[in-house]
Amino acid sequence: MVEINDDAIFTIVTLNEGDERLRRLLLILNERGVSWLERRYDCFTDEELEAAPLLIMSYDVNARVFGGPRMGTTYDMSDACKRCGAGARQTSAMIIDVEDLHKLEGRRAATTPYDDVLVDENLAAVLAESGATGLSFRGVFTAFEKRGHIQLPWRQLCATHTMPPMSPRSTGIVPDDLCCCSRSGFDTPTEIPTRLVYRAADFAEIRDINVTWEWFGDTHYEGDVGDALFAYPRFLVTPKVRRIFRDAGVTGFDWLPIRVVDE
Ligand SMILES: [Zn+2]
Repeated sequence: MVEINDDAIFTIVTLNEGDERLRRLLLILNERGVSWLERRYDCFTDEELEAAPLLIMSYDVNARVFGGPRMGTTYDMSDACKRCGAGARQTSAMIIDVEDLHKLEGRRAATTPYDDVLVDENLAAVLAESGATGLSFRGVFTAFEKRGHIQLPWRQLCATHTMPPMSPRSTGIVPDDLCCCSRSGFDTPTEIPTRLVYRAADFAEIRDINVTWEWFGDTHYEGDVGDALFAYPRFLVTPKVRRIFRDAGVTGFDWLPIRVVDE
């Protein structure tokens, strides 16, 4: 698949790894001194997604709403890493930026840059009644300058269970500037497919909704939560949760099966 826009400064070419044209394209780019960025990722059929024990749930970055520590959401830092803030425990409703309210229009689900999952109140009710395990809900508010905080007809979907640390056989998640707590400081190079691997024993305690022990993304924490940039855990859900989102007409999430090894 090739998307070409005459005004664009780049073109996206998507090819199967085994496609002969990929080899030829790289040869031509090399010959002509054209630079490129490579992104490798796995594709899955519906059957494969249904058969996975857990799926990484990640949302279209274009539909993110800004929320979290810098918007006034509060966190208990008593068990968190003093250096990077990993392990910060949210203690208030999720507060999102009023400037981003329009992004929620016509949607049933959204996320923050910290991978917090937000659902409209009807979808929250469906999830609550589904019998799905390991979930709790928080309110979602926005702050208006003159009118104070106003509650939105949305809920934050929270996970009650944290997975054990992932297997070192995971790929595309590379310790880079690892924090002393070893929970943050991973790089996710785009040219290596993201494959999150767990041992069979790690599944003993799983729920329908879980978060990773590792926190991903950049951090900036000097003791003031209101000025913090936290890394965040990834959301791992069962195919049952994916079905609920799909049946609600939610599109835009990527679902990536985790892998299991016997160790
Ligand atoms: Zn840390």
